[in-house]
Amino acid sequence: MSISRDAVVDWIKSSAAAIAANKDYLTQLDADIGDGDHGANMDRGFQAVLTKLPGVADKDIGTIFKTVGMTLVSTVGGAGGPLYGTFFMQLGAATAGKMELTLADWVAALQAGVDGVVMRGKANPGDKTMVDALTPALNTLKAATGDGRTLADALRQSVHAAGQGMTDTIPLVARKGRASYLGERSAGHQDPGATSSHLLLKTAADIWANAG
Ligand code: ADP
Ligand code: MG
Repeated sequence: MSISRDAVVDWIKSSAAAIAANKDYLTQLDADIGDGDHGANMDRGFQAVLTKLPGVADKDIGTIFKTVGMTLVSTVGGAGGPLYGTFFMQLGAATAGKMELTLADWVAALQAGVDGVVMRGKANPGDKTMVDALTPALNTLKAATGDGRTLADALRQSVHAAGQGMTDTIPLVARKGRASYLGERSAGHQDPGATSSHLLLKTAADIWANAG
């Protein structure tokens, strides 16, 4: 019942594929309330990550996540680059030296990642950002773990909460990032960053479901 290093690498690879497949969708969401670059930004970042992965795939999980984070910081740009970069670098710090992750390890890592995003971007839940998907995912993961759920079950519940948080951004008025410039006009649109966060977490759950 643990997540192997290979499963971590598979998550990153599948995330790159999922982001590429949803590039236009993410860009459309960002065109509605931002500047229409979120899909392109994320795709550029994850394609760069793909080129870096072979060089670290035989290292510990912390090193792999750190490499993903540093690559995203230097290639994604915009608000998402530093935030997702911080997210993955914090995952890396929390998993330094590990060759596999238990559910408890993943809870601690996700906690560190979400804390990093919040510390960096200063967004609260309800501000219509990626935090609105990440925070409920983390809280639900912690609750499911406390209930003694299996890894696969806990991940599934966590992703469900992320999806709910994502769609719950639709009526919100943005208080952070570019969308906040629109004020009330940002309401009625789903936040692109919450959407990409849900996509990443859903990919993890799909890939790791068979780990236990
Ligand atoms: P930019 O807004 O610079 O063009 P992107 O389009 O790549 O960057 O990313 C936009 C997303 O970043 C938003 O949908 C939102 O989820 C997220 N975001 C923006 N500002 C913040 C913040 N301060 N904290 C958390 N997330 C944020
Ligand atoms: Mg944008």
